[in-house]
Amino acid sequence: MYGLDRWGKGLISVLPNGDIGLSNPLRPEAPKVSLPEIVHDLEMRGIHAPVLLRVSSFLQHEIHHINTSFQEAIKRVKYNGQYRGVFPIKVNQQAQVVDRIVEYGRPYSYGLEAGSKPELVIALAHRLAKDALIVCNGVKDEEFVRLAILSRKLGFNTFIVLESPKELETVISVAQELGEEPLLGVRVKLTNQIGGNWAQSSGDRSVFGMNTDQLVAVIDKLREHNLLHCLKLQHSHLGSQVPDVNDVRRSVGEACRYFVELTKEGAPLSFLDLGGGLGVDYTGEKKATENSTNYSVEEYCDNVVETVAYAMDAAELPHPTIVTESGRAAVASSSMLIFNVLEATLFDAPNKIEPEEGDHHLVFDLAEVNNYLSVERLQECINDADFYRNELRALFRRGYIDLRQMARGERIYLYLMSRIKVLARDLEDAPEVAAHLEKLVDIYHCNFSLFQSLPDVWAIDQLHPVVPLQQLNEEPDRRAVLSDITCDSDGKVDKFILADGIHPSLPVHSLQEGKPYYMGVFFIGAYQETLGDLHNLFGDTNVATIDLREDGGFDLLQEVEGDTISEVLSYVEYDPKDCMDAFRKSIDEAISAGKLKNADRKTLVAAYRDSINGYTYYE
Ligand SMILES: *Cc1c(COP(=O)(O)O)cnc(C)c1O
Repeated sequence: MYGLDRWGKGLISVLPNGDIGLSNPLRPEAPKVSLPEIVHDLEMRGIHAPVLLRVSSFLQHEIHHINTSFQEAIKRVKYNGQYRGVFPIKVNQQAQVVDRIVEYGRPYSYGLEAGSKPELVIALAHRLAKDALIVCNGVKDEEFVRLAILSRKLGFNTFIVLESPKELETVISVAQELGEEPLLGVRVKLTNQIGGNWAQSSGDRSVFGMNTDQLVAVIDKLREHNLLHCLKLQHSHLGSQVPDVNDVRRSVGEACRYFVELTKEGAPLSFLDLGGGLGVDYTGEKKATENSTNYSVEEYCDNVVETVAYAMDAAELPHPTIVTESGRAAVASSSMLIFNVLEATLFDAPNKIEPEEGDHHLVFDLAEVNNYLSVERLQECINDADFYRNELRALFRRGYIDLRQMARGERIYLYLMSRIKVLARDLEDAPEVAAHLEKLVDIYHCNFSLFQSLPDVWAIDQLHPVVPLQQLNEEPDRRAVLSDITCDSDGKVDKFILADGIHPSLPVHSLQEGKPYYMGVFFIGAYQETLGDLHNLFGDTNVATIDLREDGGFDLLQEVEGDTISEVLSYVEYDPKDCMDAFRKSIDEAISAGKLKNADRKTLVAAYRDSINGYTYYE
């Protein structure tokens, strides 16, 4: 029903007991671990939902997968060069994540990509393999360039990728001042336009990279300053989440043309950096659409290596080292958001009530619909019920019926809808009825902030798989959309990946009193953490990093407590201590004015203090 066998990538599946299970891809023979049990265990340790769960085994697997796929493609194609990937820090800058990527990537000489000064500072705080690269993209000032050049003295292979002719002037002056030579790259703007959500990051109007005219100017200037021998890398970023593998081929082909021409111009290029773009099949549809891809990691690698080999052979050039900057594909799968459902708003009612004597005849007309309700007359009954209820609402607005009468009318309507929902299950090919019932799905109120934890769902209609974590051996009896706990009507999820496509509601189970119901949102490791914001002052969630063990258990590697209220207050320029003082002052004034007893002071101060030190989410 939820399509786990399509999008779960063998990492996430359903266990026989109905729990979501996690598999360790590095140890396929190890028993799967129940995710609800992990959540329960974390709760026992005091790590409450909402919680961002990072599975480091998944991260290790993805780093391994990208690197070995390139190595295998290189073998298959008999490519004479190497692959040397870098992780773009902007995709997930969290220390726990970058530290692990560096560790898991060391056997592959995996490096880092920095797009800003802070990211370069992060990169230089890591011990990379001797021949790993640091690639500096983005707009660079003198300070950025100086640190990049000086870092070479420590053995870092730090490339400064020139984004514009103007940047070259900065590089020349800093290099002269330091008396050191830089390692240089040029960012080439490809004209091939790529499809998908990030189409604007490729082609003529892309804000990054140089066109042919600017490239010629840069080559001339480098030669003039006797620095052309420093130009060793060409960077041509393909885009992000490229849906169609043929776009990869076309763009790589174009990048190679530049590589050949720049080489002819005398640049001793030996690295071809193809940037990001390797997509994640979030929906599992294997289609060239915005949230899917029509290729696998292996296919991507094969296509890249083959295209480069072909172009270099045709130009009789040696095969360069291929660099990619895959961010999304490296980290998306390793994080998931887990939250509990707090309550449900239903748009039907299981129990019947009768109109009372003296009720308006429309209340009786509405109740009468129940007597001719049948599968054959479903559409007619929906029309009638809607008509009578809307008339009743009009009467209520004009003051002809009172609150209790209106409430009886609404309840009768909701009861009819619950019967109609059941009867509609036997109905085929009734789009009108289906569309009507889609408007009556439940709202499940959930303990998370869309703006903090899933910003791309809000901003760019990104789809992530969302699934209940338990009871998946029982047929879901309800359908729902999910709303978050911000006071913003945009804070909702109403597009869901199911086995047969994208739906506006999610099959869920009825909530049971006293029994927690958890949801998981998967593949959120890329971009979401730092892009998220403080809307309504919901802060960072708790974070737990785990490793899946051989025996089917897990180890808690690290825990980071979510923001407290006091922390989020300081982000918006409040001093929590001043807040506390101001509140105390109000209390003392109330006591002086005789409105409050002395003994109340303690209770009030304690309540304020508990809040200010607490979690921003529902506890
Ligand atoms: C954002 C970015 C990436 C990462 O792209 P993904 O699609 O996440 O792999 C790589 N390189 C550059 C220059 C970027 O700006």
